[in-house]
Amino acid sequence: MSALAPRRRTRRVSYGGIFVGGGAPITIQSMTTAPTADAGRATREIRSLARAGCELVRVAVKDGADLAALPAVAARSPIPVIADVHFDYRLAVGAARAGAAGLRINPGNIGSDDRVRRVVDAAAAASIPIRIGVNAGSLERDLRALGRSDPARALFESARRARILVEGMGFRDLVFSLKSADPLATVEANRMFAAENDCPLHVGVTEAGPALSGAAKSAVALAMLLSEGVGDTVRVSLSGNPVREVTVAAAVLSALGLRPDIPRIVSCPTCGRSWIDVARLAERLEREIMGTRSGVTIAVMGCEVNGPGEARDADIGIAGSRGGAVLFRRGKIIKRLGGDFAPEFLREVRNLMREKKK
Ligand code: SF4
Repeated sequence: MSALAPRRRTRRVSYGGIFVGGGAPITIQSMTTAPTADAGRATREIRSLARAGCELVRVAVKDGADLAALPAVAARSPIPVIADVHFDYRLAVGAARAGAAGLRINPGNIGSDDRVRRVVDAAAAASIPIRIGVNAGSLERDLRALGRSDPARALFESARRARILVEGMGFRDLVFSLKSADPLATVEANRMFAAENDCPLHVGVTEAGPALSGAAKSAVALAMLLSEGVGDTVRVSLSGNPVREVTVAAAVLSALGLRPDIPRIVSCPTCGRSWIDVARLAERLEREIMGTRSGVTIAVMGCEVNGPGEARDADIGIAGSRGGAVLFRRGKIIKRLGGDFAPEFLREVRNLMREKKK
């Protein structure tokens, strides 16, 4: 029996051919940190995110300069680009016309119902979805008191209102997110929202914090929701380089068995028996392999005493030994590698990934 509940049934939307909801694989998304107006930098950042395994990317469209650069960024991006717009509905309308694969707006700051309607009309004309992203820090004025006493309920009420408003306009290509910096409030708000409609959910903890504590907070909320079947696309928000967000999100989905195509890296913590620099090799693998969809399990172990045995389920692995390392597959030693063995090991890993693809 699976430790996870069946996934919640949701409607399906398409971001330029990448589906969210309706049983599609749970996608990983992130957001650029470069100003979109700097199209060169934004594009380079998107390419690194895509190499790390990011499947949808959001860019900030905060003014006319960002909007002017959006067509170039969207055209050069290897993955669908979603325009993130706050305050000015005209930028959202412009982004829909400029080639964005989707829009993200916040009902707390986009303005009157009429302005929302203009955005909805533009998205409908471009056949793109809208994510309505509700954040605890930017609730509508009349929900702020509730936000202090019952943050989950306030997030839910805000999302519910926006859903009723936009669905009342005849628009159904909606994704919702309900986020707080508090993982448990985030979980509770998403549970309430998931129980009352079939809109796909983008799940994550907002402003989770610096890399390590932020990753832990995000993993807590994501694991709780995803194990209940709630969540169709994920974002891990961390201060700093967004490539790490993608790696953390991939590790969470892989750990829950929700994306068997994402590689798994097993590495030991090392101890006084270790012969090799496990951390360096494991981190190199993480950088080079986690973004692939090869579904391999790779082990990096410090010594041959426990190495192969501890990684019996790995497709391929390495264990340090005096003067080098041993290479093993499925817990059986295949050969000995000497000297600087990292390049040869990486070649073996790539060969295995190619074999698996065939
Ligand atoms: S595999 Fe070897 S080096 Fe790594 S923790 Fe176990 S005993 Fe220590």
